[in-house]
Amino acid sequence: MAETRKTKLLIIGSGPAGYTAGVYASRAMLDPILVQGIEPGGQLTTTTEVENWPGDSEVQGPDLMLRMEAHAKAMGTEIIGDIITDLDLSKRPFTATGDSGTKYVADAVILATGARAKWLGLDTEEKFKGFGVSACATCDGFFYRGQEIVVIGGGNTAVEEALFLTNFASKVTLVHRRDELRAEKILIDRLEKNPKIAPLWFNQLEEVYGTDSPLGVEGIKVKNVKTGEITDIPCKGVFVAIGHAPANELVKDTLETHMGGYVVTKPDSTETSIPGVFAAGDLTDHKYRQAVTSAGMGCMAALEAERFLAETDPT
Ligand SMILES: Cc1cc2nc3c(=O)[nH]c(=O)nc-3n(C[C@H](O)[C@H](O)[C@H](O)COP(=O)(O)OP(=O)(O)OC[C@H]3O[C@@H](n4cnc5c(N)ncnc54)[C@H](O)[C@@H]3O)c2cc1C
Repeated sequence: MAETRKTKLLIIGSGPAGYTAGVYASRAMLDPILVQGIEPGGQLTTTTEVENWPGDSEVQGPDLMLRMEAHAKAMGTEIIGDIITDLDLSKRPFTATGDSGTKYVADAVILATGARAKWLGLDTEEKFKGFGVSACATCDGFFYRGQEIVVIGGGNTAVEEALFLTNFASKVTLVHRRDELRAEKILIDRLEKNPKIAPLWFNQLEEVYGTDSPLGVEGIKVKNVKTGEITDIPCKGVFVAIGHAPANELVKDTLETHMGGYVVTKPDSTETSIPGVFAAGDLTDHKYRQAVTSAGMGCMAALEAERFLAETDPT
């Protein structure tokens, strides 16, 4: 028979936001349950070196996430390997249903389901992910100091990433399928004035190539969408910048969202449009999308959930 688990606080997601919420909620004696989802540890488990987590000049993403999990567990968070497939936020207590069949009944919920970079879906893109292919200039730009790199895309994300990457790279080639950018005018002006950026119009990525041992990118092949001509571009880094999608499937019909599906929270807060439901990390953040900002929001969500529970269920 399906099990029912009652908890004061259910945390959905096991990235930096979820685990940090677990640490703070446990230390506030809320005995939280945290459901990990399909990707225990979240996005950082898909990368190698992380060089901007305070306190670690270099740490492997998967190791950092194992440490966060151990920390949350040591403080008292119950961590469960399950995926929430349905979330009923229409009345309190809220009810979440797990893929395992377990029902989680919670007085408050922290949503920390993160976001996903959009990828092109090429086999060679997959092969070099984390080894020269990235979707995050803030995270990985520093690795390409003085090198030639390529940005794929033509929207705001691509233009912002290309501009940011000129801080490190000797040259940035912007590969776009059309001959005009879908970005804010001010960003396009900056891009056009930047001598390090060379746009390559009417081209799309066909293949990333490089070495196998050690795994690393040496260049890409792009195809002209009008003529079919293939061009070889030697480069050390490829940034796929075609946007991000928040993992909002559980709440997209019940909570207010904006900017392409990111959950709206009140200013300076993780409160959503439903009292008792808090959202933290990349799920709400179309702007920074970093581990440390997600962790910060996880902390805020736990503190706000604790205050909410103290006010509404004072026993
Ligand atoms: C390749 C790569 C490299 C990066 N490098 C860096 C870096 O160097 N520095 C940096 O600061 N940031 C980096 N980032 C960004 C950083 O990983 C994210 O900003 C951060 O992980 C977001 O944390 P989060 O807790 O919001 O969610 P995520 O890390 O996205 O975690 C989401 C969690 O929610 C869970 N989940 C989703 N749906 C459900 C469900 N239905 N039920 C239960 N659980 C669910 C998932 O299993 C996952 O555990 C990188 C990202 C990528 C992809």
